[in-house]
Amino acid sequence: MIIPLQKQITKATHNTSKLMQRMEVLAQPLQSLLMGKWFKLICGASFQDLAVIKSLTLVYSLAGADCLDVAADLAVIETVRESMELVKSLTDQAQKKGYPRQGLPWLMVSLNDGEDPHFRKASFNAQNCPPDCPRPCQNICPVDAIKPQGVLKEKCYGCGRCLSICPLQLIQADSHQTNPEMICSEITKGHIQAIEIHTQVGHQDQFATLWEKIKPYHGSLELLAISCPEHPQSIPYLEHIYHLISPLKCPLLWQTDGRPMSGDIGKGTTHAAIRYAQKVLNAELPGYVQLAGGTNDYTVSKLESLGLRQKIAGVAYGSYARSIIGPLLSGLETLSLGQSPPESLWSAVNRAYHLVAEIKNTGLKNN
Ligand code: SF4
Ligand code: SF4
Repeated sequence: MIIPLQKQITKATHNTSKLMQRMEVLAQPLQSLLMGKWFKLICGASFQDLAVIKSLTLVYSLAGADCLDVAADLAVIETVRESMELVKSLTDQAQKKGYPRQGLPWLMVSLNDGEDPHFRKASFNAQNCPPDCPRPCQNICPVDAIKPQGVLKEKCYGCGRCLSICPLQLIQADSHQTNPEMICSEITKGHIQAIEIHTQVGHQDQFATLWEKIKPYHGSLELLAISCPEHPQSIPYLEHIYHLISPLKCPLLWQTDGRPMSGDIGKGTTHAAIRYAQKVLNAELPGYVQLAGGTNDYTVSKLESLGLRQKIAGVAYGSYARSIIGPLLSGLETLSLGQSPPESLWSAVNRAYHLVAEIKNTGLKNN
């Protein structure tokens, strides 16, 4: 019988004080995973707006995020790394304002093993649009990626909301494949600490091919995450994946991707991720379990009301986390080392902190 990783750690530790002594020597993100306080910000596997990514990194790092999940794009990775330097320079100011002191979040990069909604962008030829179209596509886009001339590629993160709304069906989704070789070279340089592989039931062969490329490098990672949408065959598929990647040289996390890219739509979007997390927990797969897809400020209270809060390692927030600070990000992209930050930075950090604190302000994970 396979014993889940958290249980192995807890069993190997005789009491809470010994556990706490051991925790002190661990990196903060790993502590958060062990204590069920892990907060991941999803910037978006297709999102490449460097100005916004710089600001999101700044705000959520200062607010206490454990991990930033970004696109497999060298310019994006470099932007996050530069923004981390700013974070370091502002840590003392953050502490003076009452935010807990902590280390930097891990940088995670998302890869896909095939077609996946997170790895696509919308496009249309604006010359085909009637001049009197009321432009419902533009109104529904949550990141203002649609302009009169078409879709701004770097802003589109593939949420899909515009695809079906065009009365003339002019909008299409263009999928793209990430480059694992380029990411493996970033692992070697120590630029990224975690990888997330997006897969789905039926992708056994594609996953195996991708894993063969990553496997030689994964010992240098702090974490490997597997994200998979729910399906009647999800559990046998995840078990298959587990046996394929074992033995692992780094911790493993299962991301239960409920209703992808929907957390900003309404409270109810969180239910699918919770149901799926319950299913994965029941299967006792080795590794941490973390929710994503439809998560928002309702997620933690719902987990508590269902008695699941102590069983999960954490929550990843995407569109909801980005939307609550979006209006405050303007101007932050020009901030550089040595400059005094505008007050809007601290307003954004305060808003982000309230979301981070929902998962952080709970007791020791009882697993
Ligand atoms: S609505 Fe979504 S898919 Fe369409 S352009 Fe905006 S971000 Fe892209
Ligand atoms: S809804 Fe369709 S026709 Fe209208 S502006 Fe958008 S893409 Fe063009």
